[in-house]
Amino acid sequence: MLGLIDHMSNDSADKENELHRERAILRKKGQDVLENVEAALKKGKTATDPRQQFKNWLRSSEGQAWEKAEFQRRKGICAYCNTLMREADAVVHHVEPIKKLGCNANRVENYRLLHPNCNLSIGTKIVDFLF
Ligand SMILES: [Zn+2]
Repeated sequence: MLGLIDHMSNDSADKENELHRERAILRKKGQDVLENVEAALKKGKTATDPRQQFKNWLRSSEGQAWEKAEFQRRKGICAYCNTLMREADAVVHHVEPIKKLGCNANRVENYRLLHPNCNLSIGTKIVDFLF
């Protein structure tokens, strides 16, 4: 009878040790998952870098279609110097710079088509556009 009780308490001690081990393993796994999620979040942040976001949009079919429509709407006229551009030359300028607004600068209302040289001469200065 005593032997049986001893045996049982050994059993439950083993069981308890096993549970402690499992808890330690789960803790470690939880930490790994957390680290993975944090790494993924970090990566996600660089994916929404405003300049990269703009480049991706410009390359997308939506961006391409917008640029084409905008060029036609503006009749090929540069919004800065009011002279004609070649469609292949036109570049998209941010009126309010990314430097100032970050991802919020990436809105079509904030875009103007300009000559590359006009874009360069403005840089990140904020200028008034007539249209
Ligand atoms: Zn121009």
